[in-house]
Amino acid sequence: MDQSPDPMNAPIAAAYPRPRRSRQARVVWGSRVVTIGGDAPVRVQSMTNTDTVDVIGTAIQVKELAQAGSELVRITVNTPEAAQAVPHIREQLDRMGIDVPLVGDFHYNGHTLLSLYPDCARALSKYRINPGNVGKGRKRDAQFAQMIEAAMRYQRPVRIGVNWGSLDQDLLAQMMDDNAGRAAPWDAKQVMYQALVQSGLQSAREACALGMDPDQVIISCKVSGVQDLVTVYRALAARCDHALHLGLTEAGMGTKGTVGSSVALGLLLQEGIGDTIRVSLTPQPGEARTQEVVVALEILQALGLRAFNPSVTACPGCGRTTSTTFQELAKQIDDHLRARMPVWRSLYPGVESLRVAVMGCIVNGPGESKHADIGISLPGTGEAPAAPVFIDGQKALTLRGEGIVAEFQQIVESYIQRRFGVTSTPV
Ligand code: SF4
Repeated sequence: MDQSPDPMNAPIAAAYPRPRRSRQARVVWGSRVVTIGGDAPVRVQSMTNTDTVDVIGTAIQVKELAQAGSELVRITVNTPEAAQAVPHIREQLDRMGIDVPLVGDFHYNGHTLLSLYPDCARALSKYRINPGNVGKGRKRDAQFAQMIEAAMRYQRPVRIGVNWGSLDQDLLAQMMDDNAGRAAPWDAKQVMYQALVQSGLQSAREACALGMDPDQVIISCKVSGVQDLVTVYRALAARCDHALHLGLTEAGMGTKGTVGSSVALGLLLQEGIGDTIRVSLTPQPGEARTQEVVVALEILQALGLRAFNPSVTACPGCGRTTSTTFQELAKQIDDHLRARMPVWRSLYPGVESLRVAVMGCIVNGPGESKHADIGISLPGTGEAPAAPVFIDGQKALTLRGEGIVAEFQQIVESYIQRRFGVTSTPV
């Protein structure tokens, strides 16, 4: 008799991201330490789009990005005026009680700015170096070394940030020549992949050879195509143990940028590749810069890697919810949860793991609500105007009438207090 296990009756392995063991970098400002890589959670980064010379405008945007959840904020440091503004931005943030570490984004003249403006070098907690924009020809190595020496002098980690829009042209030309000499030359795209990865790895090796602690070297190789990004990062992860910064460069606007970034970062993070992420969204007119942070947080939360906000499961609605009432109620509840989070986060540790369901009718409403910590099944078209509320999998009560949303919000508030409130010690 065949003793092999019945595949239809075998345990189903859960798909969770596989951790990749990388080195761990430390980014420090004052008493704030943000670790990247190793066993640290995947970190969220963002970048300002203000003129760095505008100290107040930049400080305000950094504050907004930090309060939205960005754990590091990068600012452009492109001119002597910008470099002079950096310490003032830092002072302004410190005065506002914002201790988020600042990352300096350098291209072309970073070696000069870091040398001539030590207060700028000190105010920044990490330097981004683009090996394609460090300098040409013989000057390149000396200028790269100058930046690494500044990083070592001020004990700052660096990100070797390769970008295919500014790839090291000398390296690419060399690799194209080498490829032409192959018996069976690779296609141009393959050479590009190799050049991106080599640029990052060679520069990291140079930095370490100059004395930089390898733990303090983070690498990124950003491209704008989803499949290209996955290809490049898989190779990068296989060839080094440096912490990796992940991002789909020039992701674009709105839905396109959000979907592209989510798919690319999701695929890689699921494979355990990526220690810190940035979503490079182009803001739509009138859209807040913080949207890129919102998307980054949602990506990590959707993958189950981190929890930032209570997750709200809401059904899409269908022909059973023809009025807009359901959408309005669902939005009001969602908005309320987000609005209360800054207060809840400090009062109720762990509240971000709360799962709330807001459902549109009886078909999936009660079932989905029972899976959540707390859920409400709103009445669909033609159903009795009653909304059963489920708490910890049990039907707790039924709400009726005009005040359903306010009453549900109050029930959620009480639940959170009960479950996540810190019990005071009796005296
Ligand atoms: S729960 Fe009801 S309203 Fe929501 S999608 Fe399913 S059937 Fe439609």
